Amino acid sequence: MKKYTKIDTKLIHSGEPKPRIGGAVSLPIFQTAMYEYEEEDSYHDIKYIRLNNTPNHIALQKKLAALENAESSLVTASGMAAITTSLLTFLGKGDHFLIQNTLYGGTHTFVNHELEKWGISFDFIDGTSSDKWEGKLRPETKVIYVESMTNPLLQVTDLKAVTAFAREHNLISIVDNTFPSPINFRPSEWGFDLSCHSCTKYLNGHSDIVAGCVIGSAELIGKITHQLNHLGGTLDPHACFLLHRGVKTLALRMARHNKSAFKIAQFLENHAEVERVNYPGLETNLYNKSAKELFDGFSGMLSFELKGGLESAKKLLKKVTLSVIAPSLGGVESLITLPATTSHSGMSPEERQRVGISDSLVRMSVGIEDGDDLVADLEQALR
Ligand code: PLP
Repeated sequence: MKKYTKIDTKLIHSGEPKPRIGGAVSLPIFQTAMYEYEEEDSYHDIKYIRLNNTPNHIALQKKLAALENAESSLVTASGMAAITTSLLTFLGKGDHFLIQNTLYGGTHTFVNHELEKWGISFDFIDGTSSDKWEGKLRPETKVIYVESMTNPLLQVTDLKAVTAFAREHNLISIVDNTFPSPINFRPSEWGFDLSCHSCTKYLNGHSDIVAGCVIGSAELIGKITHQLNHLGGTLDPHACFLLHRGVKTLALRMARHNKSAFKIAQFLENHAEVERVNYPGLETNLYNKSAKELFDGFSGMLSFELKGGLESAKKLLKKVTLSVIAPSLGGVESLITLPATTSHSGMSPEERQRVGISDSLVRMSVGIEDGDDLVADLEQALR
């Protein structure tokens, strides 16, 4: 397989079958559950959709691995399937792991409320104070799990410390890299063992499928694939096709997301009605220095608090005309939401308060509309 160096070229050409199947320029959808037996000698090699090895899976998985300069990847039925299957591959009865306290709500709820029944224990860690992690280690600690940028506060985790800590204590390091996408951050280059994505977001980019992936070494991805083959959270070939199509424009979309979010963050920071803006691209942001070191862009996600609190936040959502009021993120259309009532509603009010997510926090996923139009729309809504 030819190796390309630039990510823009990888998005188009990496993983594409050579020769092209039937000469097709765009990889067709292989909508067949099973394939003729070709004397495969392992259950996991039989060609069958659930075993993640159809032509649609193979091409897409090679492309996604190439984007993060990793050996291998696995696509899954959702971001949560990627996260839960990865954790359940490396953690079993009696094991313990460390996990960041400011997580996507779904991951937080899964860890907090589901893992106990599998006999797996954990401790939450503050991803920005590595000096406290060692005190939480146990002989049975196996994994450290973080998000590269936290949702919805956009804190930048001390990612260099995570990989150093994992190496020192022989832990598998896993990062949810959904917010930066491979355009802004490539975890394997910084020593992470595994990177998970909700491909529902930037990687697909068109808000029309739910999908996930995990990217890493061939050895670890092989183990997760065996687990997924049994748990069954496989991506359908049609969704593979849509993700394959969507991802080709990732570099173009991310460039616009990065640029417009930066513009909006600057506008909000200087607005009299705005109390605080969370966007690591801003010079005034606590994480600006580490974001500049780690990332090639600051993503299209930002959150902010209005001086008028919850009432003002609710009013703002009623007055915006371009951003759709909806959960999720990373699509071409701008979305705006109050995380306390959507993505993080699975957390109790006390848990949200503990990690700093107020009821009035507004989160915006900046789309690829004209950046000035988005600023003008927020300006009229704030007025
Ligand atoms: N990780 C992050 C950072 C997310 O924001 C989400 C969903 O919002 C997920 C994982 C879960 O992804 P999915 O909804 O595709 O299962």
